[in-house]
Amino acid sequence: MGHEHIIKENTAMPAAARQRKYASDSIEQDTTIIDIGDGVKIGGNRIVIMAGPCSVESEEQIISIAQELRSMGIRILRGGAYKPRTSPYDFQGLGEEGLEYLKYASRLTGLKIITEVIDPRNVELVTNFADILQIGTRSMQNYPLLREVGKSRMPVLLKRGMSATYKEFLLAAEYIMVGGNEKVILCERGIRTLINELRFTLDLNAVPYLKQRTHLPIIVDPSHGTGSASLVIDMSKAAIACGADGLLIETHPHPQESKSDAAQTISTDELKKSMPGLARIAQAVGRKIDGDNNAD
Ligand code: PEP
Ligand code: MN
Repeated sequence: MGHEHIIKENTAMPAAARQRKYASDSIEQDTTIIDIGDGVKIGGNRIVIMAGPCSVESEEQIISIAQELRSMGIRILRGGAYKPRTSPYDFQGLGEEGLEYLKYASRLTGLKIITEVIDPRNVELVTNFADILQIGTRSMQNYPLLREVGKSRMPVLLKRGMSATYKEFLLAAEYIMVGGNEKVILCERGIRTLINELRFTLDLNAVPYLKQRTHLPIIVDPSHGTGSASLVIDMSKAAIACGADGLLIETHPHPQESKSDAAQTISTDELKKSMPGLARIAQAVGRKIDGDNNAD
């Protein structure tokens, strides 16, 4: 599959604005469904929640969070083992040890794992522990890394660069797909704007816009997108309302003790209490929140 198949033509746009490069014969196609295994699918009617701490901090931490998530019906656990921190003096993650803990938490609970890979030399290693490879905002234009995950057959969640246009974002997806890996999930995670009261501005325009331009599933990260725990659930609702296929949420039993991104991390209790509200929004737009006890 070459890039011409990746992005569908948006007939709602004036012809002059259409870019031939992005045209595709897949206009009739709905969102591509990406199979994560064991019935977990991204891009279908169910909205998939991926949740967990910003960083894997210890074996006990990740296991207890995984168990909490399981009790909510959530089936994908997030957690960074390799952290692309803005400052080199901040906690950089537990590395391979963190990957081992994630794998163990997955074995105990059955949750699927999404974790970030920041170095092309580690793609193979991370693939042995993960079910979805995450490419972070700072790596969106790391072309050697994109090419390396393009050689893998594992689903890739590609975060939008914090200053990337939609075109740059889609072309980054194409870097992965031209290598033969078509399992790309786009993630809007907030961009830099003139709003300096918040860490980033969650650009929900991206969701319906990209839905019209590509058949790839799109999920939203309201944690990084706002930088503020008190906004996460409201923006999660908004993301579901505007068509997101899933959410990536940072959660921790004691958010203030998180080793990274504490200010934007919601408590596992808050997440649990918010699940019925998220389900109501999903229902209002004809969808369901994915859960291991959901009937099809
Ligand atoms: C993360 O998910 O913890 C992360 C580092 O995200 P981003 O790349 O969007 O900053
Ligand atoms: Mn984080």
